[in-house]
Amino acid sequence: MGVLTGRTALVTGASRGIGRGIAERLARDGARVAVHYGRNETAAKETVAAIEAAGGAAFTIGVELGLPGDVEALWAEFDRHADGLDILVNNAGIGNTRPIDEITEQEFDRVFAVNVKAPFFIVRHGMARLRDGGRVINVSSGLARTAVMPDNMAYAMTKGALDVFSRDLSKVLGPRAITVNSVAPGIIDTDNTAGLLYGTEGGWAQAAAISALGRVGETADVADVVAFLASGGARWVTGSWVDATGGSLT
Ligand code: NAP
Repeated sequence: MGVLTGRTALVTGASRGIGRGIAERLARDGARVAVHYGRNETAAKETVAAIEAAGGAAFTIGVELGLPGDVEALWAEFDRHADGLDILVNNAGIGNTRPIDEITEQEFDRVFAVNVKAPFFIVRHGMARLRDGGRVINVSSGLARTAVMPDNMAYAMTKGALDVFSRDLSKVLGPRAITVNSVAPGIIDTDNTAGLLYGTEGGWAQAAAISALGRVGETADVADVVAFLASGGARWVTGSWVDATGGSLT
Protein backbone atom coordinates (compact mmCIF):
# COMPACT_ATOMS: atom_id res chain seq x y z
CA MET A 1 0.00 0.00 0.00
CA GLY A 2 1.43 3.36 -1.01
CA VAL A 3 0.48 6.72 0.48
CA LEU A 4 -1.60 7.50 -2.64
CA THR A 5 -3.38 4.16 -2.93
CA GLY A 6 -6.96 4.71 -4.07
CA ARG A 7 -6.17 8.14 -5.53
CA THR A 8 -6.37 9.17 -9.17
CA ALA A 9 -3.83 11.58 -10.64
CA LEU A 10 -3.66 13.43 -13.94
CA VAL A 11 -0.22 14.56 -15.06
CA THR A 12 -0.15 16.68 -18.21
CA GLY A 13 2.86 16.23 -20.44
CA ALA A 14 3.71 12.89 -18.85
CA SER A 15 5.01 11.19 -21.98
CA ARG A 16 8.49 12.57 -21.51
CA GLY A 17 10.77 14.53 -19.19
CA ILE A 18 9.69 15.87 -15.82
CA GLY A 19 6.06 14.85 -16.33
CA ARG A 20 7.06 11.27 -16.95
CA GLY A 21 9.14 11.30 -13.79
CA ILE A 22 6.18 12.68 -11.83
CA ALA A 23 3.77 10.11 -13.30
CA GLU A 24 6.08 7.23 -12.46
CA ARG A 25 6.64 8.50 -8.91
CA LEU A 26 2.94 9.10 -8.15
CA ALA A 27 2.14 5.64 -9.52
CA ARG A 28 4.83 4.14 -7.31
CA ASP A 29 3.10 5.83 -4.37
CA GLY A 30 -0.10 4.00 -5.35
CA ALA A 31 -2.03 6.49 -7.48
CA ARG A 32 -3.69 5.47 -10.73
CA VAL A 33 -2.24 7.91 -13.22
CA ALA A 34 -3.64 9.53 -16.34
CA VAL A 35 -0.58 9.98 -18.56
CA HIS A 36 -1.38 12.94 -20.77
CA TYR A 37 0.59 13.73 -23.93
CA GLY A 38 0.32 16.02 -26.94
CA ARG A 39 1.64 14.21 -30.00
CA ASN A 40 4.08 11.53 -28.87
CA GLU A 41 1.79 8.56 -28.26
CA THR A 42 4.72 6.13 -28.36
CA ALA A 43 6.44 7.92 -25.49
CA ALA A 44 3.20 8.06 -23.49
CA LYS A 45 2.74 4.32 -23.95
CA GLU A 46 6.31 3.81 -22.75
CA THR A 47 5.48 5.75 -19.58
CA VAL A 48 2.41 3.58 -18.99
CA ALA A 49 4.44 0.42 -19.67
CA ALA A 50 7.10 1.51 -17.18
CA ILE A 51 4.42 2.21 -14.55
CA GLU A 52 2.76 -1.16 -15.12
CA ALA A 53 6.10 -2.98 -15.06
CA ALA A 54 6.65 -1.49 -11.60
CA GLY A 55 3.26 -2.78 -10.47
CA GLY A 56 1.30 0.46 -10.92
CA ALA A 57 -1.77 1.47 -12.92
CA ALA A 58 -2.00 4.11 -15.65
CA PHE A 59 -3.73 5.06 -18.88
CA THR A 60 -2.98 7.54 -21.66
CA ILE A 61 -4.83 10.69 -22.74
CA GLY A 62 -3.68 12.27 -25.99
CA VAL A 63 -4.76 15.89 -26.53
CA GLU A 64 -2.63 18.68 -27.90
CA LEU A 65 -2.98 21.75 -25.70
CA GLY A 66 -3.06 25.31 -26.99
CA LEU A 67 -5.73 24.64 -29.63
CA PRO A 68 -9.47 25.43 -29.59
CA GLY A 69 -11.45 22.74 -27.77
CA ASP A 70 -8.35 21.20 -26.20
CA VAL A 71 -9.47 21.24 -22.58
CA GLU A 72 -12.96 19.93 -23.28
CA ALA A 73 -11.40 17.09 -25.27
CA LEU A 74 -8.98 16.32 -22.44
CA TRP A 75 -11.73 15.99 -19.84
CA ALA A 76 -13.98 14.01 -22.17
CA GLU A 77 -11.14 11.54 -22.66
CA PHE A 78 -10.38 11.49 -18.92
CA ASP A 79 -14.03 10.74 -18.12
CA ARG A 80 -13.87 7.62 -20.27
CA HIS A 81 -11.36 6.17 -17.80
CA ALA A 82 -12.11 7.62 -14.36
CA ASP A 83 -14.96 9.02 -12.28
CA GLY A 84 -13.06 11.73 -10.43
CA LEU A 85 -9.67 13.16 -9.68
CA ASP A 86 -7.53 13.64 -6.57
CA ILE A 87 -4.26 15.07 -7.92
CA LEU A 88 -3.87 17.38 -10.91
CA VAL A 89 -0.33 18.18 -12.03
CA ASN A 90 -0.18 20.89 -14.68
CA ASN A 91 3.24 20.05 -16.08
CA ALA A 92 2.95 20.25 -19.88
CA GLY A 93 4.80 23.28 -21.13
CA ILE A 94 6.96 24.61 -23.92
CA GLY A 95 10.00 26.84 -23.85
CA ASN A 96 10.77 29.98 -25.80
CA THR A 97 14.25 31.44 -26.09
CA ARG A 98 13.56 34.26 -28.54
CA PRO A 99 14.73 37.67 -27.36
CA ILE A 100 12.17 40.47 -27.19
CA ASP A 101 13.46 42.10 -30.38
CA GLU A 102 12.92 38.86 -32.34
CA ILE A 103 9.89 37.08 -30.87
CA THR A 104 6.75 37.23 -32.99
CA GLU A 105 3.22 37.77 -31.75
CA GLN A 106 2.35 34.23 -32.81
CA GLU A 107 5.21 32.77 -30.77
CA PHE A 108 4.22 34.85 -27.76
CA ASP A 109 0.59 33.73 -28.05
CA ARG A 110 1.61 30.10 -28.43
CA VAL A 111 3.76 29.97 -25.29
CA PHE A 112 1.02 31.65 -23.26
CA ALA A 113 -1.64 29.35 -24.74
CA VAL A 114 0.18 26.18 -23.72
CA ASN A 115 1.80 27.31 -20.46
CA VAL A 116 -0.92 29.56 -19.00
CA LYS A 117 -4.27 29.37 -20.75
CA ALA A 118 -4.34 25.56 -20.89
CA PRO A 119 -3.67 24.95 -17.17
CA PHE A 120 -6.13 27.71 -16.25
CA PHE A 121 -8.94 26.14 -18.24
CA ILE A 122 -7.98 22.59 -17.29
CA VAL A 123 -8.73 23.70 -13.73
CA ARG A 124 -11.74 25.79 -14.77
CA HIS A 125 -13.37 22.75 -16.36
CA GLY A 126 -11.89 20.17 -14.00
CA MET A 127 -12.76 21.69 -10.60
CA ALA A 128 -16.01 19.76 -10.35
CA ARG A 129 -14.14 16.50 -10.95
CA LEU A 130 -11.50 17.28 -8.32
CA ARG A 131 -12.45 15.64 -5.03
CA ASP A 132 -12.31 17.46 -1.68
CA GLY A 133 -8.91 17.09 -0.02
CA GLY A 134 -7.27 17.00 -3.44
CA ARG A 135 -4.16 18.60 -4.86
CA VAL A 136 -3.30 20.96 -7.72
CA ILE A 137 0.40 21.26 -8.49
CA ASN A 138 1.57 23.63 -11.20
CA VAL A 139 5.05 23.18 -12.65
CA SER A 140 6.63 26.61 -12.79
CA SER A 141 10.30 27.53 -13.30
CA GLY A 142 13.10 29.18 -11.40
CA LEU A 143 13.14 31.67 -14.30
CA ALA A 144 9.98 33.23 -12.86
CA ARG A 145 12.22 34.63 -10.13
CA THR A 146 15.51 35.48 -11.82
CA ALA A 147 16.50 37.54 -14.85
CA VAL A 148 19.62 35.47 -15.46
CA MET A 149 18.32 34.37 -18.90
CA PRO A 150 16.42 37.40 -20.30
CA ASP A 151 16.11 35.83 -23.75
CA ASN A 152 13.62 33.47 -22.08
CA MET A 153 11.50 36.48 -21.05
CA ALA A 154 8.19 35.44 -22.61
CA TYR A 155 8.57 31.93 -21.20
CA ALA A 156 9.48 33.30 -17.76
CA MET A 157 6.42 35.55 -17.93
CA THR A 158 4.20 32.50 -18.48
CA LYS A 159 5.57 30.94 -15.31
CA GLY A 160 5.05 34.17 -13.38
CA ALA A 161 1.41 34.08 -14.47
CA LEU A 162 1.14 30.43 -13.45
CA ASP A 163 2.49 31.30 -10.00
CA VAL A 164 -0.18 33.97 -9.50
CA PHE A 165 -2.71 31.37 -10.57
CA SER A 166 -1.42 28.95 -7.89
CA ARG A 167 -1.57 31.66 -5.24
CA ASP A 168 -5.09 32.89 -5.96
CA LEU A 169 -6.54 29.45 -6.73
CA SER A 170 -5.44 28.27 -3.30
CA LYS A 171 -8.00 30.68 -1.81
CA VAL A 172 -10.75 29.46 -4.12
CA LEU A 173 -10.18 25.75 -3.46
CA GLY A 174 -9.03 26.03 0.16
CA PRO A 175 -12.53 25.66 1.65
CA ARG A 176 -12.62 22.21 0.05
CA ALA A 177 -9.24 21.29 1.62
CA ILE A 178 -7.68 21.23 -1.83
CA THR A 179 -4.14 22.60 -1.79
CA VAL A 180 -2.60 24.45 -4.73
CA ASN A 181 1.13 25.02 -5.13
CA SER A 182 3.77 25.83 -7.71
CA VAL A 183 6.92 23.73 -7.95
CA ALA A 184 9.78 25.51 -9.68
CA PRO A 185 12.52 23.37 -11.22
CA GLY A 186 15.93 24.70 -12.18
CA ILE A 187 17.78 23.18 -15.13
CA ILE A 188 16.70 19.56 -15.53
CA ASP A 189 18.07 17.12 -18.10
CA THR A 190 15.14 16.66 -20.52
CA ASP A 191 14.47 17.01 -24.26
CA ASN A 192 13.52 20.61 -23.49
CA THR A 193 17.04 21.47 -22.34
CA ALA A 194 18.96 19.25 -24.78
CA GLY A 195 20.14 22.25 -26.81
CA LEU A 196 21.38 24.08 -23.74
CA LEU A 197 23.08 21.05 -22.18
CA TYR A 198 24.40 19.16 -25.21
CA GLY A 199 24.25 21.72 -28.02
CA THR A 200 27.20 23.84 -27.00
CA GLU A 201 30.74 23.11 -25.83
CA GLY A 202 30.75 23.27 -22.04
CA GLY A 203 26.96 23.67 -21.83
CA TRP A 204 26.56 20.91 -19.27
CA ALA A 205 29.30 22.27 -17.00
CA GLN A 206 27.91 25.81 -17.14
CA ALA A 207 24.44 24.57 -16.27
CA ALA A 208 25.76 22.45 -13.41
CA ALA A 209 27.63 25.44 -11.99
CA ILE A 210 24.38 27.43 -11.63
CA SER A 211 23.15 25.05 -8.92
CA ALA A 212 24.52 25.38 -5.40
CA LEU A 213 24.70 21.59 -5.48
CA GLY A 214 26.96 21.69 -8.53
CA ARG A 215 25.04 19.44 -10.87
CA VAL A 216 22.26 19.39 -13.46
CA GLY A 217 18.92 18.24 -12.06
CA GLU A 218 17.26 14.93 -12.86
CA THR A 219 13.52 14.47 -13.37
CA ALA A 220 13.32 12.52 -10.09
CA ASP A 221 14.61 15.59 -8.22
CA VAL A 222 11.39 17.39 -9.16
CA ALA A 223 9.11 14.34 -9.00
CA ASP A 224 10.05 13.73 -5.37
CA VAL A 225 9.02 17.27 -4.43
CA VAL A 226 5.72 16.91 -6.29
CA ALA A 227 5.14 13.58 -4.52
CA PHE A 228 5.56 15.28 -1.17
CA LEU A 229 3.05 18.01 -2.09
CA ALA A 230 0.65 15.31 -3.27
CA SER A 231 0.94 13.41 0.01
CA GLY A 232 -1.03 13.88 3.21
CA GLY A 233 2.06 15.29 4.88
CA ALA A 234 1.74 18.46 2.78
CA ARG A 235 -1.88 19.17 3.78
CA TRP A 236 -0.89 22.50 5.40
CA VAL A 237 1.17 23.76 2.45
CA THR A 238 -0.88 25.78 -0.02
CA GLY A 239 -0.53 28.88 -2.16
CA SER A 240 3.22 28.44 -2.01
CA TRP A 241 6.10 28.52 -4.45
CA VAL A 242 8.38 25.58 -3.83
CA ASP A 243 11.94 26.12 -4.98
CA ALA A 244 13.15 22.90 -6.63
CA THR A 245 16.05 24.55 -8.42
CA GLY A 246 18.84 22.85 -6.51
CA GLY A 247 19.82 26.19 -5.11
CA SER A 248 20.09 27.94 -8.46
CA LEU A 249 18.62 31.19 -7.14
CA THR A 250 21.02 31.61 -4.24
P1 NAP B 1 9.79 18.07 -22.28
O1 NAP B 1 10.82 17.05 -21.96
O2 NAP B 1 9.92 18.86 -23.53
O3 NAP B 1 8.34 17.35 -22.26
C1 NAP B 1 7.22 18.13 -22.49
C2 NAP B 1 5.97 17.34 -22.20
O4 NAP B 1 4.86 18.21 -22.37
C3 NAP B 1 5.77 16.19 -23.16
O5 NAP B 1 5.09 15.16 -22.49
C4 NAP B 1 4.90 16.81 -24.25
O6 NAP B 1 4.09 15.86 -24.91
C5 NAP B 1 4.05 17.75 -23.44
N1 NAP B 1 3.61 18.88 -24.24
C6 NAP B 1 4.38 19.90 -24.70
N2 NAP B 1 3.62 20.75 -25.42
C7 NAP B 1 2.37 20.24 -25.40
C8 NAP B 1 1.15 20.64 -25.98
N3 NAP B 1 1.04 21.75 -26.75
N4 NAP B 1 0.05 19.89 -25.77
C9 NAP B 1 0.13 18.77 -25.00
N5 NAP B 1 1.26 18.33 -24.46
C10 NAP B 1 2.36 19.06 -24.66
O7 NAP B 1 9.64 19.15 -21.11
P2 NAP B 1 10.23 19.17 -19.62
O8 NAP B 1 11.60 19.72 -19.65
O9 NAP B 1 9.99 17.88 -18.98
O10 NAP B 1 9.31 20.30 -18.95
C11 NAP B 1 8.14 19.98 -18.23
C12 NAP B 1 7.69 21.22 -17.48
O11 NAP B 1 8.73 21.65 -16.61
C13 NAP B 1 7.37 22.41 -18.38
O12 NAP B 1 6.26 23.11 -17.87
C14 NAP B 1 8.61 23.26 -18.29
O13 NAP B 1 8.36 24.62 -18.53
C15 NAP B 1 9.01 23.02 -16.84
N6 NAP B 1 10.42 23.27 -16.55
C16 NAP B 1 11.39 22.53 -17.15
C17 NAP B 1 12.72 22.78 -16.82
C18 NAP B 1 13.86 21.99 -17.41
O14 NAP B 1 15.01 22.36 -17.17
N7 NAP B 1 13.61 20.94 -18.17
C19 NAP B 1 13.04 23.80 -15.93
C20 NAP B 1 12.02 24.54 -15.35
C21 NAP B 1 10.71 24.26 -15.66
P3 NAP B 1 4.60 15.08 -26.25
O15 NAP B 1 5.60 14.04 -25.78
O16 NAP B 1 3.38 14.47 -26.83
O17 NAP B 1 5.25 16.10 -27.13
